[in-house]
Amino acid sequence: MTSITENFKTIQKEVGKINPQATLLAVSKTFPNEALLEAARAGALAFGENYAQEGCDKVDWFKTHCPQCNITWHFIGPLQSNKTRPVAERFDWVQSIDRVKIAQRLNDQRPESLLPLNVLIEVNIDGEDTKSGVAPEHVRALCLAISKMSRLKLRGLMTIPAPKATKEEEKETFLSMKALYDSLKEEFHFDTLSMGMSADYVEALKAGSTMVRVGSKIFGARTYTH
Ligand SMILES: *Cc1c(COP(=O)(O)O)cnc(C)c1O
Repeated sequence: MTSITENFKTIQKEVGKINPQATLLAVSKTFPNEALLEAARAGALAFGENYAQEGCDKVDWFKTHCPQCNITWHFIGPLQSNKTRPVAERFDWVQSIDRVKIAQRLNDQRPESLLPLNVLIEVNIDGEDTKSGVAPEHVRALCLAISKMSRLKLRGLMTIPAPKATKEEEKETFLSMKALYDSLKEEFHFDTLSMGMSADYVEALKAGSTMVRVGSKIFGARTYTH
């Protein structure tokens, strides 16, 4: 078994070779604070969490136990409207915005003492019925709505593509996400395209991703789910 430190450094180097400007987000859902602390000491500056309660507990733990870690916290999971407040009060980013209602609540609940909340719109690039995320043709309307919300800062798009049978199909999906991102980039001043996970971050970066979300390849297999 390799360590979190080793894993993180290896992936960080690999990401940097493809795009030195890209952000490596350490996806830490289900892992204990000590695992995050090890990653932070290896150089991780940004963590992604999926569950409101668990994520907020971790933000609070770091605030008291490692204020010098200076972590940027990203909420990347589905967010129910009754869970927006604690997230708006603690996180720096929310990557999973897929409807006006959630954006509006986060905007209204973002404390004045904090900087505006950075947000990404989650895109359902494969058009799967079962998936969260906005259909590509509805992304611009949501961008327009969010750009009027003063306590949110729209930074770009995020996607979790369906698993693909071939590398070629995978690449096509990433490239169609990149094309959608580019078509809106100037109008909305985007700087972040979040795509790529443990299994496919190299391909995602090559297709133009600026942020990869890597969990199991840093922390190991997740052993429980919510
Ligand atoms: C869990 C998760 C990841 C990380 O997945 P791995 O395959 O473990 O790297 C990335 N993005 C989102 C939205 C996730 O929920």
